[in-house]
Amino acid sequence: MVVQGAFCQQSCLGLAEWTGLVADERVRLALIATYTQLETWRPVAQDAARARVPVVAGPLAAGFEGVYIPNEKRVIINEHLLADGLPPLAAVAAHEVFHASQAFRRQGKGVDPAGCLEEEQAAFRWTAETYDRLRVYGPPNAGYDGIVQSWKQGKLRDVVLLQPAYQVECLGRELPNY
Ligand SMILES: [Zn+2]
Repeated sequence: MVVQGAFCQQSCLGLAEWTGLVADERVRLALIATYTQLETWRPVAQDAARARVPVVAGPLAAGFEGVYIPNEKRVIINEHLLADGLPPLAAVAAHEVFHASQAFRRQGKGVDPAGCLEEEQAAFRWTAETYDRLRVYGPPNAGYDGIVQSWKQGKLRDVVLLQPAYQVECLGRELPNY
């Protein structure tokens, strides 16, 4: 796979399947950057590609950077990220592709609330690790720096638990605050 990019020091690595699964070149480049620079993420990407999960850029509600839709077996990245440079795009794609890989590994089995929250923590670890590795290839981004900081401080559990969207997704409803 031949691509150009500062992150391709000698050569870039990607998956042949992405040619058919990832139509937007900027999204594909972001995935390739992560695949090249973050060796530990490669099995995750391979599972999502095995599951034939497309990664598309499209409109999402405010506050949603990306989503994996189990019923449709596809990842949508919020199209506003296309304007923010490679690192945030790669970080969100790495997160959502991880969800796709987990769904593939579960083979239709459900996940309990704790497992759902833990999967989000693990997904945010990919967000943080990817952004941390690729940040030099884009402009500064305080939001993603904050996620990296939480990860390095061992506080990704707080990042997940405190977001109402994840309470709804994993626990079925938003937790009240007393
Ligand atoms: Zn997630």
